[in-house]
Amino acid sequence: MQILFYTLITLASVIAMEFVAWLAHKYLMHGLLWIWHEDHHKPHEVEGFFEKNDLFFLVFAVPSAASYIIGSAVPGYFPLFFVGVGISIYGLIYFLIHDVYIHQRFKWFKQLDGWYSRGILRAHGAHHAKQEKEDGVSFGLLLVHPKYFRKKKK
Ligand SMILES: [Zn+2]
Ligand SMILES: [Zn+2]
Repeated sequence: MQILFYTLITLASVIAMEFVAWLAHKYLMHGLLWIWHEDHHKPHEVEGFFEKNDLFFLVFAVPSAASYIIGSAVPGYFPLFFVGVGISIYGLIYFLIHDVYIHQRFKWFKQLDGWYSRGILRAHGAHHAKQEKEDGVSFGLLLVHPKYFRKKKK
């Protein structure tokens, strides 16, 4: 049954990360750390692949790495290892959905034609409609307001 336990911890961590990411986006990235997030909200006048915003991948790698290290090095803390796995999986999902699918930084796949993919695309589009730090909407990525899933009336 241990495998089930570890699988559950991993899954719970992936889900929890959506909330952590939402909080971090709303209160840190649109707060104190706006200096790193700002260029993600502005038109790209500077040529180049990377944004300052990409620093957040490194920021989120820290709790993940810490979980791996403590989980494998400290006796009794092995379940923490799977929290690290969950954070990594979320990071990968975030990268694939936010950076590849929504922002098309890599042309790996085009518009996905499902109600869910269209809904989260619409929600993130609403988030990007604002170029300022204040009064943002829709900070989540995978869990967004149901209104974004409703079909627009013709
Ligand atoms: Zn933002
Ligand atoms: Zn974005």
